[in-house]
Amino acid sequence: MSQLVVENLFKRFGQNEVLKGVSLEAKKGDVISIIGSSGSGKSTFLRCINLLEKPTEGRIIVDGQALSLARGRDGNLESTDAGQLQRVRAKLAMVFQNFNLWAHMTVLENVIEAPVHVLGIPKAEAIDRAKVYLDKVGIYERRDYYPAHLSGGQQQRAAIARALAMEPEVMLFDEPTSALDPELVGEVLRVMQNLAAEGRTMIVVTHEMGFAKSVSNHVMFLHQGRVEEEGNPKEVLVNPRSERLKQFLSGSL
Ligand code: ADP
Ligand code: MG
Repeated sequence: MSQLVVENLFKRFGQNEVLKGVSLEAKKGDVISIIGSSGSGKSTFLRCINLLEKPTEGRIIVDGQALSLARGRDGNLESTDAGQLQRVRAKLAMVFQNFNLWAHMTVLENVIEAPVHVLGIPKAEAIDRAKVYLDKVGIYERRDYYPAHLSGGQQQRAAIARALAMEPEVMLFDEPTSALDPELVGEVLRVMQNLAAEGRTMIVVTHEMGFAKSVSNHVMFLHQGRVEEEGNPKEVLVNPRSERLKQFLSGSL
């Protein structure tokens, strides 16, 4: 069974139709890279999937269950029950470009926050769980630091541990290395590569073509809100068929 199915997603901001029928299916262990120029709708697509943004049309099926969405006053689809929003965000944990760690909390506090307050896990158990994931991303020794005292790479690894601590079905990454100094990109990509090797299901918006080619098993090229081309990265990224993807890969789009 697929862990995540997105069917024909549309998103309009006023007159601006940003997504024009985007579909995706992720089975367990799939790593799907989403590529495309700035403004093509990549972030909006990820944000609609976990309902950080309200889709205008479409169906989202998580773990075999279609999300219950109804048309709201602003014309977009919204969740019909508040509990569903929390469940969806727990099952589809997001890692953001700018880490989005809580500045007033230590790394450990960041990682246990949602397990304790959203999942209702006892604090001691959440701390045990956090240790496992902080260790996995290699920053257990920094657990008592505040984010401002960590490098960007360490902060992003802490954010990945925070997402892992929700034990999500699918992890969503929105350009997780774009805000990092070049020398820190590798440590984050290595963590992501290890997660992929463990069989985690991941959807990754990225400009790292090496990662897309060597780690993901499917790549989607978004152009102006549509999937222009998709398939096996070793084929699509090596022998692109569409002119637009050729231009994008050569850096001229
Ligand atoms: P990408 O992540 O591929 O760079 P985005 O999804 O961020 O693209 O943006 C796609 C388009 O949607 C852009 O034209 C952007 O201006 C517009 N957009 C994104 N978020 C909003 C918003 N909250 N309100 C209005 N327009 C938005
Ligand atoms: Mg974006």
